[in-house]
Amino acid sequence: MSEFDLIQRYFTRATPSAVLGVGDDAALLQVGEGMQLAVSTDMLVSGTHFFADADPFLLGHKALAVNLSDLAAMGATPRWATLALSLPEVNELWLEKFSRGFFSLADRYGVELVGGDTTRGALNLSITIMGEVPSGSALRRDGAQVGDDIWVSGAPGEAAMALAHLQGRIVLPEAVLNDCLTHLHQPQPRVELGLALRGIAHSAIDVSDGLLADLGHILGCSRVGAEVFVGRVLTRQVVHENVGLKPDLHWEDVRQQCILAGGDDYELCFTAPVAQRASIEKIAAELNLPLTRVGQILAGSGCVVKDAAGKVMNIKEQGYDHFA
Ligand code: ADP
Ligand code: MG
Repeated sequence: MSEFDLIQRYFTRATPSAVLGVGDDAALLQVGEGMQLAVSTDMLVSGTHFFADADPFLLGHKALAVNLSDLAAMGATPRWATLALSLPEVNELWLEKFSRGFFSLADRYGVELVGGDTTRGALNLSITIMGEVPSGSALRRDGAQVGDDIWVSGAPGEAAMALAHLQGRIVLPEAVLNDCLTHLHQPQPRVELGLALRGIAHSAIDVSDGLLADLGHILGCSRVGAEVFVGRVLTRQVVHENVGLKPDLHWEDVRQQCILAGGDDYELCFTAPVAQRASIEKIAAELNLPLTRVGQILAGSGCVVKDAAGKVMNIKEQGYDHFA
């Protein structure tokens, strides 16, 4: 199968909302009047972000999901994507599953694949996503204000718990294992939440590297500090009670590390004025997605983390850094 047959068979679909899609030297796109284009790229590298034998359907989903998550964190409506693929060989079964995983999520959000690049090499997936946001209303990292509540969606830490389980560091109970694994392999980008938060949140970020690390970006960009109460972050009761551990580990340490520094959940962390609490609780109910207030923006810099007793914790790991 030639490169062009491959693109034609697996990655060429109708793109009615693009002026020009796959097949020319460049795609042509038109944003709506009064809208800004939000653009973001995320790369998934075999051996770093996933195992080489990962299920291709889930990989297609996840590659797009992590990109959609960035648009969600900006409050942008996803519109178009490009896909740069490096493949060690042409494996039609792999390509068929990968493209199905990709397009099933793309279809859910009306994202059109308008171009890309395909080469031979180590397995590597790079997606650029484009979305629209009314001029001036994107949710940025630099908008947090002193006195804002800090909110987190979902139950961050569950993807990291699944990874710890796969690595044999903990044994998760049956009742939550599948949910945690789904968070790891098939994260759901919080696109609807990002859109609902326009005009309500002062700042937002998606949690890809760990809650403290990513909140730290909001704090740095906004030139503010924060306090976070680890006991307030949602975890399911069954995880508290039934987890099995290697003898030298303390469950509370692992739990806190997963919550505070575990990446891969793709939940949103955002800040909003106290006056918006009721609107945010309404959004949580409408989206059927838990939104939890975990702390407060303070003057100064850095983040103080307090345990359930209100005692300041000494945090070693804040999140994942590829070059640390
Ligand atoms: P060029 O040589 O100009 O870079 P290519 O031969 O790489 O063009 O690509 C031909 C067309 O197919 C272009 O429109 C490109 O955007 C598209 N394309 C290439 N790879 C992919 C892919 N993996 N997914 C979607 N479109 C692709
Ligand atoms: Mg090319």
